[in-house]
Amino acid sequence: MTWSRADLERVAQGVRGTVLWDEPMARHTSLRVGGPADLYLEPADLADLERGMELLRSANVPCLVVGSGYNLLVRDGGIRGCVVSLKRFDSLEPLPGARLEVGAGVTNQVLTRFAAEQCLGGIEFLSGIPGSFGGALTMNAGAHGGETMQRVELLTTLRETGVLVRKRSELEYGYRFLKLAPGEIILGARLRLEPVERRLIEENIREYIGKRGGQRVGFPNAGSFFKNPAGESAWRLIDQAGLRGATVGGAQVSEVHTNFLVNTGGAQAADFLALAELVKVRVKEAAGIGLEEEVRIVGEA
Ligand SMILES: Cc1cc2nc3c(=O)[nH]c(=O)nc-3n(C[C@H](O)[C@H](O)[C@H](O)COP(=O)(O)OP(=O)(O)OC[C@H]3O[C@@H](n4cnc5c(N)ncnc54)[C@H](O)[C@@H]3O)c2cc1C
Repeated sequence: MTWSRADLERVAQGVRGTVLWDEPMARHTSLRVGGPADLYLEPADLADLERGMELLRSANVPCLVVGSGYNLLVRDGGIRGCVVSLKRFDSLEPLPGARLEVGAGVTNQVLTRFAAEQCLGGIEFLSGIPGSFGGALTMNAGAHGGETMQRVELLTTLRETGVLVRKRSELEYGYRFLKLAPGEIILGARLRLEPVERRLIEENIREYIGKRGGQRVGFPNAGSFFKNPAGESAWRLIDQAGLRGATVGGAQVSEVHTNFLVNTGGAQAADFLALAELVKVRVKEAAGIGLEEEVRIVGEA
């Protein structure tokens, strides 16, 4: 570690937004586990974010940008350095030609409701996916045949060199994946949608939310824990390996949906990591297939 608490204090003094010290990440993740972040920032606006990032860089303090934590497993030791949330980047603006300019901090639910009000279709699949739009872009979140990146016209990010705007054709993305440079922060995107009758959009939303009944697992979770291997369903492989209900500490393979690992109460991140390892080993033994986590795992053991 080449930086000190004094460096963090200088960063904290330099930003105008929310500053939290030793903030338990369990408060910011849907799995409800994870140790503290040394410093947790919610910059007030772009100038504030740029200033904060400059101070972090000049002191060599590592930084992790998070969305709403629905796809995040933070280890029990927490996060050394700084966590940045773009919650306040929540602007949402209609543009001519069935377009929307959307900030990274807008939630998928606010976005899909707004698009419906504007009679703009094509993004309804996001209505049942919890999280921020920045998280949806980073993960190229998708459901019901739709993927976030399909609707992106322009992506705006922040790098060390400044703000960068790229067309979708200039980006590399795939299943639950968008290629970003190390440290690159998504600020938002311009979406190109389609004019559609509001009634039809609302119908799609109702249908998609309705289809999620099987995901009501009754305990904190991060959605699908593992990616589906090509041509396979992770939940089926886990079920066939006999792991429905398998438990390590407070972490359990859901009885309802076997690709959901749930916190039945008092779980630690270490329980989830051990359970995930058990699932991977057993599925490999039973089916010869290696599962890969969809959930992003960060922080110190
Ligand atoms: C019940 C349930 C159902 C779900 N169903 C689906 C589904 O159907 N399809 C699907 O794809 N996912 C699903 N998920 C997973 C999750 O909702 C998505 O991955 C979502 O897009 C995560 O958004 P987030 O804001 O919570 O991101 P986070 O979990 O906070 O972050 C995810 C990753 O993105 C990075 N990140 C976040 N914001 C930024 C940014 N602005 N710039 C750079 N990096 C950033 C983080 O560092 C992290 O690596 C589900 C989750 C739950 C709990």
